[in-house]
Amino acid sequence: MTLTADPRAGFTTGLFIDGAWSEGAETFDDLNPATGEVLVKVANASPEDVDRAVRAARAALDGVWGETPGVGRAVLLNRLADLVERDAQQLARLEALDVGKPVGQPGLLDVPNTVATFRHFAGWADKIQGSTIPTAGYLGMAKTHSYTVREPVGVIGAIVPWNTPLMIAAWKLGPALAAGNTVVVKPAEDAPLSILHLGRLIEEAGFPAGVVNIVPGLGGIAGAALVAHPDVDKISFTGSPEVGRQIQKSAADTFKRVTLELGGKSPQIVCEDADLDAAIQGIAMGLFFNQGEVCAAGTRILVHRSHYETVVNALAEAAEAQVLGDPFAESTTMGALINEGQRKRVLEYIEKGKAEGARVVAGGGKPDQPGFFVRPTIFADVDNGSTIAREEIFGPVGAVIPFDTVEEAIAIANDTEYGLAATIWTRDVSLAHSLASKVRAGAVWVNGWAALDPALPWGGMKTSGIGRELGWSGILANTEEKVVTIVL
Ligand code: NAD
Repeated sequence: MTLTADPRAGFTTGLFIDGAWSEGAETFDDLNPATGEVLVKVANASPEDVDRAVRAARAALDGVWGETPGVGRAVLLNRLADLVERDAQQLARLEALDVGKPVGQPGLLDVPNTVATFRHFAGWADKIQGSTIPTAGYLGMAKTHSYTVREPVGVIGAIVPWNTPLMIAAWKLGPALAAGNTVVVKPAEDAPLSILHLGRLIEEAGFPAGVVNIVPGLGGIAGAALVAHPDVDKISFTGSPEVGRQIQKSAADTFKRVTLELGGKSPQIVCEDADLDAAIQGIAMGLFFNQGEVCAAGTRILVHRSHYETVVNALAEAAEAQVLGDPFAESTTMGALINEGQRKRVLEYIEKGKAEGARVVAGGGKPDQPGFFVRPTIFADVDNGSTIAREEIFGPVGAVIPFDTVEEAIAIANDTEYGLAATIWTRDVSLAHSLASKVRAGAVWVNGWAALDPALPWGGMKTSGIGRELGWSGILANTEEKVVTIVL
């Protein structure tokens, strides 16, 4: 199927609850960011729909899914990975159409990473072990035998943002299902289509009814209902710090477990001995990939003063070379921002950067074309205390800051409320390890931006979040540890 020829053909737009699809009493408009036009109407889950989904998830947990051994869960996750791989092109097209990103990008990252995530967690599903722990015995009267088991947390509410919806849904579903939980997924209202297609694949793979439920809807209604629901055991949230804060407060009422994957203002540190060509290429990718709508975007570029003008000029050139346009055109290298509100926000930041005295060396506004495009923008001579260096912009805007010593670079890198990721460009292996140990960030990449893998824990420090997803850490975050002691 070619989605460009008839974009509406094959869209899945309903609610997926207890193994069945339904229309929903209301709909919301899902827009095409590249044109600004309505793409399709999608079911708008009500609090009652969310309640039905949670009840279905609980019933599955207490029933057939609770009885499914790890090896059975692994078979299903592997089957799902195969189906995502089968539909890779269609999923990449859905992601491009719904998010506005160039179609090659989901083909490079989102879809293969989704396949890899399901395969990785299929591998864990039958290997979730406890331990036996020697103790001193029971009150001096008897010996004891103690062991631990890791049990599923229960019903998990997975709340997903719009920037890389399929991949982030997989990051939540993979570990949750491997560990034996059931899930209610709330996709973002701006980009639900790839997750709804994934629902079709979950059905085809043969997951029992109610194990995964999908409730597209508005954050303040469907999302809030999921967070407040007394029978949801955990919320796994990826999104903005503002909403993350509200979720943590609301989840406290029912003592839900919470993992929060939030925003970032990640530094890229270009050391004096860096391979400049590689650094410039990696920095440009870290700024413009996914239109800069990436939590780990490397938006604060700290450059040793000896290379400062070279890097500024090269990034300006890279920004001007970006081709904005139809996500399906081969020439397009950068797509549209997700909606008009996001574009307005990014343009306001650009104006603020100018007003606060930073030097615009590329971009600095919007092009004259339909859709929610913003010109990729590079600011030089940025003060790390200024708004554009402190706040997450979530658009293609970079701030370049000079430094003289590595101590200064680390001080600037850490002078932020965020702590999601950092990239270090150096050929000196000792310096790389030394800087990596000093940066306060959940992920540090040396000589490459965004080296992601489902085997590696993912999450942030400070305002960037709480907890970790992926790898064994993802299994820990989706299980409760129980200790059993037998008095012998
Ligand atoms: P957002 O916080 O506006 O929305 C995220 C999700 O939360 C959406 O599904 C939304 O409908 C839902 N939501 C909104 N209000 C809610 C409420 N009151 N209760 C429950 N759910 C609610 O974020 P966004 O604009 O979709 O995404 C951009 C943000 O996500 C950026 O800050 C970005 O850095 C962050 N992000 C983080 C990561 C990470 O892994 N750390 C990855 C991607 C995006």
